[in-house]
Amino acid sequence: MGLACDLAVLGGGPAGAVSARLAARDGLRVILVDPGRGPRRIEGMSPRLHRWLAGEGLLEGLDGLIGPLPRQTDWSGLGAAVNGEFLVERAALDAHLRAAAVAAGAEEIRGSGRPEPGGIRLADGRWIAAAQVLDARGRAAHGAEAAARRGPVPTLSICAFVLSERGPEHGPVAPGLRISALPEGWIWRAALPDGRIWAQLTVDAASPLPPEARLRTALAASAPELGDPRLEGAPLVRATAPVLPAPLDDLACLPVGDAFAAMDPLSGHGQFWAVSSALAAAAVRRTLAARPGAGSEALCRRFLAERAQETCLRNARIGRDFLRLETRFADRPFWAARRDFPDDRPAHDLPPAIRIETAAVVRGGLVEEMEILKTPRTPAGIGWFGEIPAAEAFRMLRDGRAEAESRARFGLAPERLAALLAREETPLL
Ligand SMILES: Cc1cc2nc3c(=O)[nH]c(=O)nc-3n(C[C@H](O)[C@H](O)[C@H](O)COP(=O)(O)OP(=O)(O)OC[C@H]3O[C@@H](n4cnc5c(N)ncnc54)[C@H](O)[C@@H]3O)c2cc1C
Repeated sequence: MGLACDLAVLGGGPAGAVSARLAARDGLRVILVDPGRGPRRIEGMSPRLHRWLAGEGLLEGLDGLIGPLPRQTDWSGLGAAVNGEFLVERAALDAHLRAAAVAAGAEEIRGSGRPEPGGIRLADGRWIAAAQVLDARGRAAHGAEAAARRGPVPTLSICAFVLSERGPEHGPVAPGLRISALPEGWIWRAALPDGRIWAQLTVDAASPLPPEARLRTALAASAPELGDPRLEGAPLVRATAPVLPAPLDDLACLPVGDAFAAMDPLSGHGQFWAVSSALAAAAVRRTLAARPGAGSEALCRRFLAERAQETCLRNARIGRDFLRLETRFADRPFWAARRDFPDDRPAHDLPPAIRIETAAVVRGGLVEEMEILKTPRTPAGIGWFGEIPAAEAFRMLRDGRAEAESRARFGLAPERLAALLAREETPLL
């Protein structure tokens, strides 16, 4: 017999698990499908995601959160040190988020499947009928049709736990992270407080050498202090070229997280993007339920497409600028092939003046069109200034309307906005 639910979520990484939890908390019948056996791997957790998880109470009971640890950057011949970066065991994080979804009322099915119109077809042949499907399969969702959105050169990350062969006289490696540029790519190493070392080498996919040899050679060049390290098992090899946003054909089957758009691991924001994409999809789901109709659908499409485009292009440009910083290897194939992706525009496409625009935003949990204020310092736009609509307060200031009027309506907010805008050094339009 087939299964049925309001929302079926395919894939239980951060995007799928958080989506399932949000929908179950909204009272929907939710089925979450995931094989439940991701490979062991370590990733950085951005401060924004750490803050969001803490705010949701989702750090409680999370095994596998590590740090904060100091980070050292060897890039462009410059050494820079930063304090306090969190790491996470991804299998533990994903299992924890799926458990939170189940605690909120979602049903978890161990398995895999594919989205089809009206539901999910499981690999064992079972059918899950669902009013809405979220495709959260991560990069596995992208088939051959994504080739045009993938750029610019096939790229691999080769990852493994590393067993240092240095003798006991050297003592343990001090815990910390290190990112180093190499002629053939870049390598990220995490020496964990429990003595394990995780290494991730990102390089061109094309090579006559096997992945293990490539990782060991890169470690010998970047971390001679590890001696002649062995790898714990076969390395995990993952395609990591960025994938720009997928077209949104069908709002009844939405891609979320990496299934929608996948970032370069250099950005360090992939998990945060996955969660924020889940939050955006939840706002769309609620909007379509509360205000069905063609107008809402068009607004929701625009909202999702603009957010994905803006986030992915900005992150790709930030990554490009970071790669361009490394001038020592500029003529090496890895670096030369990536210095112009996704384009040549500045990472922060600054508006030339402070101006009002309309945008699709989330307000009270629903997607709405509203006026926002764009400034060079806040190119993504400000919707609200405290409790008041920023565009309206800005108009009052610009038009020089009586102080008494603005005070009566908005208290001191317009004055605080005036002080903020005075620091923008740009004409007010
Ligand atoms: C090498 C590498 C290093 C990275 N480093 C960082 C980092 O340091 N910090 C950071 O924030 N981000 C990092 N990222 C990015 C981050 O891993 C992703 O952006 C994030 O995991 C996306 O979450 P997601 O839920 O969309 O997809 P995923 O995390 O990929 O989850 C997809 C889920 O779907 C399941 N699935 C796949 N196919 C099916 C199917 N057919 N049926 C059912 N389930 C299926 C998978 O098992 C998995 O559980 C890195 C990525 C890579 C590749």
